[in-house]
Amino acid sequence: MTAEILDGRALGAEIKAELRDEVRKYLQERGRPPGLAIVRVGGDAASGMYSKAILRVAEDVGVRASLEELPEQTSADELLAMLQYLNVDEATQGILVQMPLPPHLSQQMVADTVASEKDIDGISPRSAGNLFLGLPSFLPSTAAAVMEILERTSTPLAGKRVVILGRSNVVGKPLSMMLLQKNATVTICHSRTARLADFTRQADVLVSAVGRANLITAAMVRPGAVVIDVGINALPGGGIVGDVDFASVREVASALTPTPGGVGPLTNVLLLKQCVQAAWQEVENSPGTLL
Ligand code: NAD
Repeated sequence: MTAEILDGRALGAEIKAELRDEVRKYLQERGRPPGLAIVRVGGDAASGMYSKAILRVAEDVGVRASLEELPEQTSADELLAMLQYLNVDEATQGILVQMPLPPHLSQQMVADTVASEKDIDGISPRSAGNLFLGLPSFLPSTAAAVMEILERTSTPLAGKRVVILGRSNVVGKPLSMMLLQKNATVTICHSRTARLADFTRQADVLVSAVGRANLITAAMVRPGAVVIDVGINALPGGGIVGDVDFASVREVASALTPTPGGVGPLTNVLLLKQCVQAAWQEVENSPGTLL
């Protein structure tokens, strides 16, 4: 069997077309586009490229995005003040604080401060709690990207065995809750899981979000499984690969995401999708709106 390649760029183009329509409607109704604020404190070249990639998607779909670049030595009070300003800024419907922060700043403070109605990357305890309770919530965009791939390719989930490798707050944990809501039987494996292949070989859908090249070999994949590769691993000579040994797993799986070109390109698109959702929710919840 040679796996179908699940093309994240093509799916991303499809979602961006939908978002352009949504933004057009919003603009007609509100007289201004939805606004996204990206806050970046210090950061290296890679994080700078990530911000630019988000700005490009925003521009493509018509969202007005701004990048607030704060110096590395920004104090907790200064960051707090910036977030408090954005929380009440009428032109800002979505806030993204780029991680990692410099060591003297607390990710928890950011998660506790960003207004939950503008928390478009689902980092706040409220968003996480709502997801856990099965209530509508903003989602961490990488986990949302994995779900979007599974749903847009009509991958059956109800009653299926899904095995996730990785238990981070941005991928593994939220994804497990989203899959549970789709009636999948979910197993989370992690760094202390013994006999990993015993689990992966049972998976109808296998998701790897670890960050180790070639972790998943063909022998670990059940023939016909759908394999979603979230991992990003830099190669010494430049370029990136995922966690999955693409060439061998391709011969066993029924469908497989490539790296690059799989989950990665969709993550930013899902962030923008949630920004547009936040903008519409603000309209629905604003006083004086008749529902
Ligand atoms: P993380 O370091 O927070 O989590 C890694 C997880 O892998 C941990 O939960 C750990 O328990 C688990 N793990 C480690 N070794 C393992 C093993 N041998 N078997 C099973 N599990 C093991 O990382 P993260 O932020 O969740 O990111 C995971 C990977 O996904 C990284 O490669 C990251 O670059 C990538 N990523 C990609 C995107 C994207 O847009 N495609 C976005 C975020 C993260």
